[in-house]
Amino acid sequence: MTNYPDSYYAASSNRDIDYPSLTENISADICVVGGGYSGLSTAIALQEKGYSVVLLEGSKIGFGASGRNGGQLVNSFSRDIDHIEKHYGSDTANALGAMAFEGADCIRDLIKRYNIDCDYKHGGFFAAFTEKQMHELAAKKQLWEKHGNKKLSLIDKSGIAKIVNTEAYVGGLVDEHCGHIHPLKLALGEAAALTSIGGQVFEQSKVINIDEVQQADTTKSIVKTDSGSVTATKVVLAGNAYMGNLEPKLSRKSMPCGTQIVTTEVLPEELAKSLIPSEYCVEDVNYKLDYYRITADNRLLFGGGVTYGGGDPASIERFLKPHMDKIFPQMANYKIDFAWGGDFLLTLSRLPQLGRIGANVYYTQGYSGHGVNTSHLAGKLLAEAIHGDSTRFDVFANLPHYPFPGGRLFRVPFTMMGAWYYGLRDALGF
Ligand SMILES: Cc1cc2nc3c(=O)[nH]c(=O)nc-3n(C[C@H](O)[C@H](O)[C@H](O)COP(=O)(O)OP(=O)(O)OC[C@H]3O[C@@H](n4cnc5c(N)ncnc54)[C@H](O)[C@@H]3O)c2cc1C
Repeated sequence: MTNYPDSYYAASSNRDIDYPSLTENISADICVVGGGYSGLSTAIALQEKGYSVVLLEGSKIGFGASGRNGGQLVNSFSRDIDHIEKHYGSDTANALGAMAFEGADCIRDLIKRYNIDCDYKHGGFFAAFTEKQMHELAAKKQLWEKHGNKKLSLIDKSGIAKIVNTEAYVGGLVDEHCGHIHPLKLALGEAAALTSIGGQVFEQSKVINIDEVQQADTTKSIVKTDSGSVTATKVVLAGNAYMGNLEPKLSRKSMPCGTQIVTTEVLPEELAKSLIPSEYCVEDVNYKLDYYRITADNRLLFGGGVTYGGGDPASIERFLKPHMDKIFPQMANYKIDFAWGGDFLLTLSRLPQLGRIGANVYYTQGYSGHGVNTSHLAGKLLAEAIHGDSTRFDVFANLPHYPFPGGRLFRVPFTMMGAWYYGLRDALGF
């Protein structure tokens, strides 16, 4: 049996529920593998369309990145729309641009329709350390406005104090279409929403194999765990960085990466308010970025770092506290109550990978650190495709999915070399 890591989220979650593990051989229209946002949002959308859905989670709902992340509803994709236009053409860029701000709305819609209490707050801030980064943010504003996000404003040095109380930045970009949430509360709320409309959820039910079987004139899939199976017409793989080698075609073209978060002790309310007066979530725009926000109970939650290949540094606190103190020197003497890490899934293009394997199996993965919103968009697109309209799904599915150079053995050092180069450019202000 696996349980949540010892995180602030697990300690402050508002639902204590164990779903059963699968012990029988059952049937459903759809079997979803993975109980993070990708799997949950797909399952809800399909159950709402009238399909019978079974979701199998190998550990606990929200055990993966969806129950551990920074909680920031960051818009667009890990590679932005200008990059997409340059590499894949303007039709693809316009089609993806039209979806770049939809994920956040999907989350707000689920929260509202299913009354999910997950500490939602609106607003986010991209912080710039240099004038060059400010120019990049000005270009991002223009780009995002062109594709429909009109809730953006540039902030110069004189306006920073009202947003975030630090000397570290020269300015930044406010995105009022962004927001932040308690990630595990959202995942657990989505699982409750799914079961409330008739979907079935099983935990501690790791999928170990998927076979095909001919029933009458239909090819179905049998999704097997150690103690049961689901026979389904369609299967959705949504195990992302935690899926290991269940489907080698997917693991070849992606790489798990770790990132870590610390959370301080509860702060006096005035201090918490003074750190981020806007109550926005904040992320800087370095290649290896830091991200942070104030929690509902007035803690500073601060994340950063990337471990290529996955996993955590020996001491997360020793690694992250200096980053936090650099932004907020006034926090140097406050205690860290929680430190944890989790894995997200990187792709070589840093664009999400959505697609099909054979006639029955669909997949979504690889949001490259930018997945709170995109996983919810992906759920909607998968449901549309399975329901018969794959127009929007296919815009993603038609993007090339490259294997990592160096294969499973050398992909980590190869990628570290690339990241070192970009990190150096940030450090030198290029
Ligand atoms: C520390 C951290 C901070 C982050 N911060 C942000 C942020 O602030 N904003 C943002 O946009 N993105 C952020 N991300 C990324 C974001 O959290 C992820 O992209 C997103 O949650 C992915 O959701 P998912 O459902 O695809 O995968 P996951 O949430 O990882 O879920 C996959 C699930 O599948 C299950 N599973 C795997 N294999 C099997 C199997 N064989 N059988 C059954 N179940 C299986 C796993 O147990 C897991 O629960 C962060 C990630 C991390 C780790």
